[in-house]
Amino acid sequence: MAPPQGPRAPLEFGGPLGAAALLLLLPATMFHLLLVARSGPARLLGPPPYLPGLEALWSPRALLLWFTWLGLQAGLYLLPARKMAEGQELKDKSRLRYPINGFQALVLTALLVGLGVSVGLPLGALPEMLLPLAFAATLTAFIFSLLLYLKSLAAPASALAPGGNSGNPIYDFFLGRELNPRISFLDLKYFCELRPGLIGWVLINLALLVQEVELWGSPSLAMCLVNGFQLLYVVDALWHEESILTTMDITHDGFGFMLAFGDLAWVPFTYSLQAQFLLHHPQPLGLPMASIICFINATGYYIFRGANSQKDTFRKNPSDPRVADLETISTATGRRLLVSGWWGMVRHPNYLGDLAMALAWSLPCGVSHLLPYFYFFYFTALLVHREARDERQCLQKYGLAWHEYCQRVRYRIVPYIY
Ligand code: NDP
Repeated sequence: MAPPQGPRAPLEFGGPLGAAALLLLLPATMFHLLLVARSGPARLLGPPPYLPGLEALWSPRALLLWFTWLGLQAGLYLLPARKMAEGQELKDKSRLRYPINGFQALVLTALLVGLGVSVGLPLGALPEMLLPLAFAATLTAFIFSLLLYLKSLAAPASALAPGGNSGNPIYDFFLGRELNPRISFLDLKYFCELRPGLIGWVLINLALLVQEVELWGSPSLAMCLVNGFQLLYVVDALWHEESILTTMDITHDGFGFMLAFGDLAWVPFTYSLQAQFLLHHPQPLGLPMASIICFINATGYYIFRGANSQKDTFRKNPSDPRVADLETISTATGRRLLVSGWWGMVRHPNYLGDLAMALAWSLPCGVSHLLPYFYFFYFTALLVHREARDERQCLQKYGLAWHEYCQRVRYRIVPYIY
């Protein structure tokens, strides 16, 4: 095994015990939500309506569908890309190259699904398979993470992520040891981050909408809003695929169970919770309320996109006319920190926009149930935790300059509140 390089990063998520708990808790929560969303009372808190037996979870048909889906997305990844982008500089001073063809994969998937539906593919039957599909995705995530862990044991020290190589196998299995595991040209983490899960999420949403039409004759306004908002989010992520190369997931976190399960299972099967809920619990929604919700989503998107693009443009080329006039703080590393524009408002404006959108995705589901607000609560906790992780890393990287930034920009995510 290659020895880790430099000082070890502090343990996160409560160390090995926390990681072991999350290994069980994350899949259990996902299955709980899937079961509760289709139950009459749809109670977020409390026991699930029933415990599914293996016959409800294990389905060769679902397994085949799942692997066909992964194979299709891997095939689309390998198609010629409109652009090859370079990632951030690695420990050994090299840079990896990534195909920018995620949006193309989305469009081609849409065309293939459209073609399939036109020749009789029963898209409306997909929601009935969510449980065994989620089981297949969970099994895949466990086996895949184990293979990634074994692969990482042969990786050179320079290929390891800053965290995730503590020496404790459970913790390292959870967090991920290797930063950018690849099989030839296929970058496994980059592939999983935006394609099978994210495109799968909007496909599940669409299938839920189709089933709603089959059940009630027409789609509800609430279902249309949820589908529209989340489609916008996924289209945006794939259109700006290149900007993922500067995010924490790619530059800092290893590829282990946390990201593999998150990307392959958690995102498609829990992020579609609002649409799952609406299929089984139709909600009336008037035009005035729908307009307010659209306004919240549009404002959130405006902040989210503005903040992410501003930082991305600045990191790629600080002299770009769109960011050249912004005020900055110099750091000992040679990189500067933005202290005006979006990044002068709060220290994570992109999280603020993302949270506003999360709220807008739940509001069409009304206020009779807590369940559709799960995403908003979970996402708030995730982003508060993520913000704290990022602050620790930035303090390590930038030292005094980061202190100065925190003095100048006092709030973390929400102005005057947090
Ligand atoms: P960010 O895009 O917020 O990146 C954080 C990094 O930005 C820091 O480590 C630092 O890196 C740089 N930075 C911080 N402050 C400044 C500044 N003032 N000036 C210039 N650079 C600065 O991190 P994430 O990867 O957490 O988030 C990316 C997006 O993904 C967000 O919009 C988030 O909401 C979203 N997201 C969505 C999730 C979902 O499940 N829907 C899950 C997680 C994230 P450096 O200085 O090294 O460049």
